[in-house]
Amino acid sequence: MKDNLTGLQDKSYISRIWQGITSLTSGLKLTLVYLFSPSKVVTQQYPENRETLHIPPRFRAQVEMPLDENGNHKCTSCKLCEKNCPNGSISVLVTKDKTGKKALGKYIYRFSQCTLCNICVEVCPTDAIIMGQGFENATTDREALDLTLFKMEGL
Ligand code: SF4
Ligand code: SF4
Repeated sequence: MKDNLTGLQDKSYISRIWQGITSLTSGLKLTLVYLFSPSKVVTQQYPENRETLHIPPRFRAQVEMPLDENGNHKCTSCKLCEKNCPNGSISVLVTKDKTGKKALGKYIYRFSQCTLCNICVEVCPTDAIIMGQGFENATTDREALDLTLFKMEGL
């Protein structure tokens, strides 16, 4: 009985050694493949590759308001984004332009509380805001995350 038990233990010990050897060689094999075929390496060498970094088109970093070459935006001050934001991350301050028409005075976006849910972008009827892709936003100053995406001249 004791001999049988010792035999089983020996087998399990040898099988574990074998498993260790096969797992080690398969790891080494992969290392050698990457060594001789560097084009197959999938690891991103960040930040060295900052210029060529591929960011998936649907990646959401923060809300942005693109301006055209003349500094104009597409916002109609309808406040739909502000009303639909689930946590009050947006404040749209409405004013009047020189002709007395309703106009966007200031667009404030609180990045520190934004959950990047994209609702504001979806509800905007004029595509005035987008989800940007700038992901390097780490800061120790919370107030630096209160962003003014647009401010009318003179306000
Ligand atoms: S992405 Fe979502 S949480 Fe962020 S500002 Fe827009 S609606 Fe609010
Ligand atoms: S960004 Fe779009 S949804 Fe928000 S106030 Fe301007 S037009 Fe309306």
